Amino acid sequence: MAIESNLKLIRERIASAALVAGRDPATIRLVAVSKTRPAGDVDRACRAGQQIFGENYVQELTEKAKMVIEPVEWHFIGHLQSNKVRQIAGLVSMIHSVDRLSLAEEINRQWEKLGSSCDILVQVNISGEATKSGASEDGALHLVRDIALLPHVRIRGLMTMPPFFDDPEAARPFFAGLKRLSLLIEHEQIRGVAMQELSMGMSGDFEAAIQEGATLVRVGTSVFGAR
Ligand SMILES: *Cc1c(COP(=O)(O)O)cnc(C)c1O
Repeated sequence: MAIESNLKLIRERIASAALVAGRDPATIRLVAVSKTRPAGDVDRACRAGQQIFGENYVQELTEKAKMVIEPVEWHFIGHLQSNKVRQIAGLVSMIHSVDRLSLAEEINRQWEKLGSSCDILVQVNISGEATKSGASEDGALHLVRDIALLPHVRIRGLMTMPPFFDDPEAARPFFAGLKRLSLLIEHEQIRGVAMQELSMGMSGDFEAAIQEGATLVRVGTSVFGAR
C-alpha cells in the first residue's frame, strides 16, 4: 500500500507547507512523476485520488499511456525534441519544458492540426549552470514575447530545476528567483500570457518551493519509491 500512504503523506506535507506560507493548499497541484514506473502504478495512484502524472520521455509516455486504464492527465516535464512533439500532441495537457522558440513553433503546428491549443510553461535555467536546459533568466522575457505570438500555444507560467534538489535551503534562492522573474514578466502584461503557474520543487525540496510560491510540484520518488 506504499503508493497510497505515500500520496496521503505528501498531500499532508503540501498542505502544511502551504499553511506555513499563508497559502491556500488548494492552489498547489501535485504532479506525480511516474517515469520508469509501470502503468499499474499510475492506475493505483489514480485510484488513490491522484490526477496528474509527469513523464520525461516521449516513447515511455506513449507506451505507458496506452496501458493505463484510469482517466489520468499527463504533463510532459522532460527535455523535448521538436521531432517528437507530434507523438504527444493531444495526449498531454501541459508541457513544462519549453525552452526555445523552435520547440514552441512545433507545438503550435501540431496543436493547430488538432484545432486546439497547448498549455505550456517556459523552462528557465535560473541557476545559470551550463549543464541545465532552460532559457537564461535574461532571455526568458524575450522568449515569452515570441511564444506569445503563436495562436495555438498558451503560456501559463514558468518551470525550473534548481541545482541542489536534495538540499531545500540551497535550492530556495532559485525558487525565489523564479517567482521574481514571473512577477517581472507578469508586469509586462503581454497579450495571451498568464503567469499563474510556477512548476518547481521535487521530492527533496517541494516544501521550500511551496513556501516560495510553487503551484505545481513534481514529485517522483516520494510517491512511487526509489527509481
Ligand atoms: C524525475 C523528475 C522529477 C521528480 O524527481 P524526484 O526527485 O523523484 O521527486 C521532477 N522533475 C523533473 C523534471 C524530473 O525529471
